[in-house]
Amino acid sequence: MSETIKTDVLIVGAGPIGLFAVFELGLLDIRAHLVDILDKIGGQCAELYPEKPIYDIPGIPSTSAQGLVDALMVQIKPFNPQFHLGDMVETIEKIGEPLFRVKTELGKIFETKVVVVAAGGGSFQPKRPPIPGIEAYEAHSVFYSVRKIEAFRGKKLLIVGGGDSALDWTLNLAPVASHLTLLHRRQEFRAAPDSVNKMMKLVGEGKIDFVMGQVTGLEGEGGKLKAANVKRNDGSMFHIACDAMLPFFGLTMKLGPVANWGLKMDGELIPVDTAAFETNVPGIFAIGDINTYPGKLKLILSGFHEGALMAQKAHRYIYPDKRLVFQYTTSSTSLQKKLGVA
Ligand SMILES: Cc1cc2nc3c(=O)[nH]c(=O)nc-3n(C[C@H](O)[C@H](O)[C@H](O)COP(=O)(O)OP(=O)(O)OC[C@H]3O[C@@H](n4cnc5c(N)ncnc54)[C@H](O)[C@@H]3O)c2cc1C
Repeated sequence: MSETIKTDVLIVGAGPIGLFAVFELGLLDIRAHLVDILDKIGGQCAELYPEKPIYDIPGIPSTSAQGLVDALMVQIKPFNPQFHLGDMVETIEKIGEPLFRVKTELGKIFETKVVVVAAGGGSFQPKRPPIPGIEAYEAHSVFYSVRKIEAFRGKKLLIVGGGDSALDWTLNLAPVASHLTLLHRRQEFRAAPDSVNKMMKLVGEGKIDFVMGQVTGLEGEGGKLKAANVKRNDGSMFHIACDAMLPFFGLTMKLGPVANWGLKMDGELIPVDTAAFETNVPGIFAIGDINTYPGKLKLILSGFHEGALMAQKAHRYIYPDKRLVFQYTTSSTSLQKKLGVA
């Protein structure tokens, strides 16, 4: 049996919101361990759109999603968070007032006074299009996310889908691809009108092709794609030569074990109060995309705010006898010492 790891706070999920929670907790002398199913830090930002620019982080006019994760890692470094990656929180058992025993899939056991569920949409998986034999090409020439734009330089690309991801990646990859075709079943898109206009402009300028139809089969060898067989809406067939195909058919968010932790749920989301973003179980908080409350916006900035208020309430559980004095990082020498800048 593995040794029990004792901590003030166990954070489920190392997405942007779990990461910033470390900062807000750290300012209040609260230490955290984080567990994430992914083998890397950063949640959706790192897994789904690391190189895409984000424009709505307060005070940062533009950064890439991975750039934001990297900056958060620098910001929380003074608080020495402990990461347990490639592992999944399976059970949370209440053993005190409040004290919880948390167990992971790989057999780690934590004893923690507070649990912060920052699990986003749970374990997210791209939807696989119903194309026979597609598995053989996955990770070789069929990709459901873009880790490095450079990996696609000079390639013949086929992007499939009509939502924001398909349109965004069409616009971002068009300048690096030797040839790019966007394939969608119909003329109407479920994407931002601005992206659709930009894509149509590229088509008008002859820089990319837009084709209506569906992929029915793939041609290639040893995982190396040569062409996609496409059926037009009128039933006729043709080939699109391509080195790589990127299908964007949305994500299946599998909530996973969160549903079994005895928390009140609203569908796949955890209802919280807006004073501290605490669940119905005292000592268990839910912040970021996983929670719901009137007016909730699934934005990174909302999750940052939620983490700040969560930390204030967590302090009461961890230091019940200590009075919490509100301080600014600009003027408090004590906070600056914690950050290693004074
Ligand atoms: C293409 C795209 C573009 C976006 N653009 C913007 C934007 O411009 N601005 C903006 O504000 N937002 C944007 N978002 C939304 C933003 O990424 C999310 O709001 C944000 O990632 C939520 O952060 P989170 O930490 O709550 O969850 P996530 O980023 O989803 O991270 C949750 C983590 O929890 C882990 N996890 C889940 N269950 C468990 C478990 N049982 N055990 C261990 N780990 C677990 C998951 O593996 C995951 O890594 C965009 C999203 C997408 C997909």
